[in-house]
Amino acid sequence: MSTERCFNFSAGPATLPAEVIDEITRKLPHFGGASILEISHRGERVQAILEEARALVTELMGLPKGYSVLFLQGGATQQFAMVPMNLLEGGADYAITGAWSQKALAEAALFGEARVAFTSEGSHFSRVPLPEEVSVAEGSSYLHITSNNTIFGTQYALFPETGTVPLVADMSSDILSRMIEPSRFGLVYAGAQKNLGPAGVTLVVIRDDLLERAPRSVPNILRYRTHAEAGSCSNTPPVFAIWATLLTLRWLKGQGGVPAIEARNRKKAAMLYDAIDRSSLYRGNAEAESRSMMNVTFTLPSEDVAKRFLDGAAEAGMMGLKGHRSVDGVRASIYNAMPVEGVAKLVEYMKAFEKNG
Ligand SMILES: *Cc1c(COP(=O)(O)O)cnc(C)c1O
Repeated sequence: MSTERCFNFSAGPATLPAEVIDEITRKLPHFGGASILEISHRGERVQAILEEARALVTELMGLPKGYSVLFLQGGATQQFAMVPMNLLEGGADYAITGAWSQKALAEAALFGEARVAFTSEGSHFSRVPLPEEVSVAEGSSYLHITSNNTIFGTQYALFPETGTVPLVADMSSDILSRMIEPSRFGLVYAGAQKNLGPAGVTLVVIRDDLLERAPRSVPNILRYRTHAEAGSCSNTPPVFAIWATLLTLRWLKGQGGVPAIEARNRKKAAMLYDAIDRSSLYRGNAEAESRSMMNVTFTLPSEDVAKRFLDGAAEAGMMGLKGHRSVDGVRASIYNAMPVEGVAKLVEYMKAFEKNG
């Protein structure tokens, strides 16, 4: 095995900034006579890490007053259950744009009426809805969307208007990749391992009035209010994952924050889609208006050709490009931490492969 660092296009766990990996390696042992892996979450050092991570999420997302930032466990998948468990009274609406939204919908059905407010299943999830295509019932507990569909490679450019109904978004694969208007959301969640840090921690941003909504039957550990009141220390938090996330947040701020990373992400995505559009070999999966800036998916004429493409890419130092088994073909995940040079190298490889096979 090579020890050289590849350009890693994996969908998740995904590439982290090389600077952050370096910093983790250097600083991990040095936390006052022990490593970060071995010290109490109640101590000053870990409390300071939590404090700074909360402050940086607030600053980078531009959160107004009245939102709480929580660091939880159980992944985005646990949020599929926690959201309806805490917030669903009667019925809620779900926009179904891929496998992750389907899973979220199935969990909600355990707690009440889970309505399909939109689905693109008929077109093999090749698009997300326009705002006016999503029908939210009056008095709905919330509308749930998946802002970026990691598997199919689609992403909302415009979010649905929900009036007084809280908008809940699974942003696992595009959190902090572009500017959003946070006040339009009641709750946002994201497993860290795509755009934020390593696996093991899940970010939840929740509007404070929603902390009070949970019925009495919800166990304390699955109740948002418990974690808000305890500063994400109601039980032992994943200290290492939160620390590594903090280093990634600092890196993001150092890059110029979300506006700067968004400009870079747009450029990277445009390079790849341009290469697809100019080619007669590669075929994009997503409809043009729904294309994701984070996961670019495309197919080749046959499985054989796709295999040769992937093998050649791996040989050239580009890993993690195989598409999800439900879509086939190629998926290039180009999250915040993927440098422009990585995308340029892939584009060059695509052109050469098309020309020479
Ligand atoms: C990866 C992913 C998930 C699942 O995340 P876990 O942290 O593994 O539970 C859910 N939603 C989206 C959009 C994802 O990309």
